[in-house]
Amino acid sequence: MTAEELAGMDQKYEALEASVHSYNGNADFEKMRRAYEYAREKHINQRRKDGSPYITHPLAVAQIVADMHLDSESIMAALLHDCIEDTDATHEEIAKLFSPAVAELVEGVTKLTRVQYISKEEEQMENLRKMLLAMSRDIRVILVKIADRLHNMRTMDYQTAEKQKQKSLETMEIYAPLAHRLGMQKVKWELEDRSLQYLDPVGYRDINDKLEASRAEHEAFMAHIQSQIEQRLQQIGVRYTAVYGRIKHTYSIYRKMYAQGKTLEQIYDLFAFRVIVETIPDCYNVLGVMHDLYKPVLGRFKDYIGTPKPNMYQSLHTTVIGDEGIPFEVQIRTVEMHEVAEYGIAAHWKYKQGGAGAGSEKTFEWVRKLLENQESSDAEEFIHNLKVDMFADEVFVFTPSGDVVNLPAGATPIDFAYSIHSAVGNSMVSCKVNNRIVTFDYPLQNGDIVEVVTSKAAHGPSRDWMKIAKSSEARNKIRQWFKREKREENIARGKLSFDAELKRAGLTLSELTSWENLGTVLKKMSYPTIDDMYAAIGYGGLSTLKAVNRIRDEMLREKRASQAAAKAAEMEEQARNAPVQQPSQPVVKRHSENGVIVEGLDNCLVKFAKCCSPVPGDPIVGFITRGYGVSVHRADCPNARHNSKDPKEAARWVKVTWGSDTRESYQTQLEIVSKDRDGLVLDISTMLSSAKVRVLSFSSRGMPDGFAITSLALEVTGAEQLDLLMKKLKGVSGVMDVKRPTG
Ligand code: MN
Repeated sequence: MTAEELAGMDQKYEALEASVHSYNGNADFEKMRRAYEYAREKHINQRRKDGSPYITHPLAVAQIVADMHLDSESIMAALLHDCIEDTDATHEEIAKLFSPAVAELVEGVTKLTRVQYISKEEEQMENLRKMLLAMSRDIRVILVKIADRLHNMRTMDYQTAEKQKQKSLETMEIYAPLAHRLGMQKVKWELEDRSLQYLDPVGYRDINDKLEASRAEHEAFMAHIQSQIEQRLQQIGVRYTAVYGRIKHTYSIYRKMYAQGKTLEQIYDLFAFRVIVETIPDCYNVLGVMHDLYKPVLGRFKDYIGTPKPNMYQSLHTTVIGDEGIPFEVQIRTVEMHEVAEYGIAAHWKYKQGGAGAGSEKTFEWVRKLLENQESSDAEEFIHNLKVDMFADEVFVFTPSGDVVNLPAGATPIDFAYSIHSAVGNSMVSCKVNNRIVTFDYPLQNGDIVEVVTSKAAHGPSRDWMKIAKSSEARNKIRQWFKREKREENIARGKLSFDAELKRAGLTLSELTSWENLGTVLKKMSYPTIDDMYAAIGYGGLSTLKAVNRIRDEMLREKRASQAAAKAAEMEEQARNAPVQQPSQPVVKRHSENGVIVEGLDNCLVKFAKCCSPVPGDPIVGFITRGYGVSVHRADCPNARHNSKDPKEAARWVKVTWGSDTRESYQTQLEIVSKDRDGLVLDISTMLSSAKVRVLSFSSRGMPDGFAITSLALEVTGAEQLDLLMKKLKGVSGVMDVKRPTG
């Protein structure tokens, strides 16, 4: 970096510090400066595609984060956000130099940066899920990431055309909707416009050229209306903070033109005016003034003050027609509402400086709801859910007591009932909308008053309801109901067969249930309650014979131990010279299933996790699944590492080891990253056949920038053979990396 460049950077940093100072005088400026200097040092030899020193980027991202009025930890995280990914900086070092919280934030952003979007829908959404998960841990991570993306979009001109398209698509499909959901209107608009510029350059230019051509005319019109409004407000004596007009952002015009097949001239409300006032009564006051001054367009009035949007947006909207016959929208709001509209969640972000990050719970309810709903659904349904939940509009209906419930557009009485409570949904027998009985598939309309009629005698949901329901919340609750019902069946079935086996073994159930160590033994078998064990028997996860033998053995062992103790005492009293016979220890059989020994569980189903497909020789861990026995992961599989931290699931992780009787072959996967070249596939397959491994599938796909990823499914005897094969594959010309995929 030249001295001149350095001075320029320092100047930018001063400006950043000044912005932070303007809203947070208590920020830790000393530490913040160190974060800047640290990042500058770490990126010292890096430059951006446009030739500028790399530190311009983190500085610009931090400035965006400051514009969102975030806390100093977020500012530091923004300054440091590329350090872990692009330099030798580590989490530990950042934690030590700044704070563990800052390191966590940087790590979170880094994780999002590492997420690779592939145009396949499923994978994209799968990554989006990871992103949301990160978000749920600390919303600041997503805010810094959005700022990062915004600056990258602002400087996208220097990227290749392909990268521009790819990033723009991602921005349009993921980041802009997220910004919208977080209520960050300004950011959302900019993200959309900048994406459109690369996704449809012709369409974008077309609109902008036309707007540019009529610019003088538009500006004159807006100035005229603005002064008209201001004059009238002054006349009447209504205090206002600001009145101004703007042309709607390019993408919203674009969308309207294409969705409605209209030309720019035919777009109904190209102009939007804002009147910003001090109090809510003033808002309604101004509304009256507007309708008096101009002719209102019927059916265009929306009161988002009385009924805020789910992302907290509040305003009065109305469309009116001016003297020239040109319609325009007027948005009326208070200063506070305006802040929220511009910066969204960030404006609500009230972190205590230095305190642990806990935001207003209610604000993030949609995030949590979304996450909760995803837990049990598979990837495909997840995409569907997200499309419904993230990108569609809502419908607002009333409960009979006047509470507003918002649901996805197209929602039915079933969605409504389950959104109140699962018990309401499960016992619904009919539904009234505006006092008239409707069918369960009736699509609810804005403003409907919905009344659910329930009965204790209800049979519960029918499977058809799952198809009718529009919200993932309702569908999940219905599914849970069926699962629970099934569980009861499983328990009943399991209990029946357990009882029969117990009798055959000469024991009674009351003997068993009165045994004080039953709980301990069940825990050893990884069942929290006896019902859980019955359920496992019911679905076939545990054989009845095993269950009975295990429990009987434990009972006998205890009995023998106490008998032995009694006998020893007796013998001591009677004859000291007679040798004491030790009761023989039962032989512990170590049975393996599929070559895997599960500690504490004999003969349970063992399957290998698809995410990491372990083979003999790999360090492994086991997870007791709900219903399919034990799932074996590689110890370094992120799924295992991440999930084992969850205290709720802790009891399900079990120790597993490879037995001596492993099978002849195990399925696993390899991923080869290489330069894409002619003959690559041939070379790889030649190598595979010479290594004598059975290949189950082989697919190679080209990547941007001339790379290729080859995915293999194959059968090997174990880790040793696999390691050797990987070494050989790495030797193939053009191959850059050979990995065993995880997670
Ligand atoms: Mn970055």
